[in-house]
Amino acid sequence: MRPILIIANWKLNGNWSFNEEYASLFSNGLKEIDLTGRQIVICPPSIYLQQLNGLILDQEIYFGGQDLSDEISGAFTGEVSGVMLKEFGCRYVLVGHSERRLRHQESNELVVKKALNAIAAGLTPVICVGETLEQRQSKQMEEVLSAQVDSILQGLGEQVEQIVLAYEPIWAIGTGQTATAEQAQEVHGWLREKIGATNRSVAENLQMIYGGSVKSDNAKQLLEMPDIDGLLVGGASLVVPEFLSICQTGEVI
Ligand code: PEP
Repeated sequence: MRPILIIANWKLNGNWSFNEEYASLFSNGLKEIDLTGRQIVICPPSIYLQQLNGLILDQEIYFGGQDLSDEISGAFTGEVSGVMLKEFGCRYVLVGHSERRLRHQESNELVVKKALNAIAAGLTPVICVGETLEQRQSKQMEEVLSAQVDSILQGLGEQVEQIVLAYEPIWAIGTGQTATAEQAQEVHGWLREKIGATNRSVAENLQMIYGGSVKSDNAKQLLEMPDIDGLLVGGASLVVPEFLSICQTGEVI
């Protein structure tokens, strides 16, 4: 069984007082919902991990980083290592989010290096893959996704069983334009098949989550798809009632 994984990506949002209010509303809301069979992860800006970790005490809520350095330590100004994230209570870390691949020119090779560092630090890397609208329209989607996934398979080897894969079509991130549940399932199914060609049992156990304008009103249809095991939620995760509603969506089988 693959448990449902819901991840909140706060991106560059939040501040001390927003976080206090969020944590209080979220903690109260959690008392009303049943999270059995679900893992919920919050990825705030890393500077707020300690504050939020002290405010959201629910055992079923985990924390994650939004990125990590590909280096362990040294003269790398502005970077945060996997070990540091772990020390601040993280269990997960996003790797290769499209906003980093595009804005910071993160290559497939760099993404693999970061994922290996995350695993070495005891974190689960949530590796993001996805195509642009132009690539989809010009029928390059499979080529782009193949390059991203092949590099993960080759670079991680057997450690690929320690990752979560997030399919995030770039055209659906922050645009309000969600992939339909069928479109998302088609790609998730294709990805699982592709990974299965290398290692069937890894593919069957791999948690594969979808991200891109997820909201409470489309979460259910997405989670009903056989190869969608969870959701990566950006904007909607910043609104407590909306995020709580997403957290309790979907049947646990
Ligand atoms: C994301 O941050 O990965 C994301 C999918 O954002 P949004 O839900 O806002 O599209």
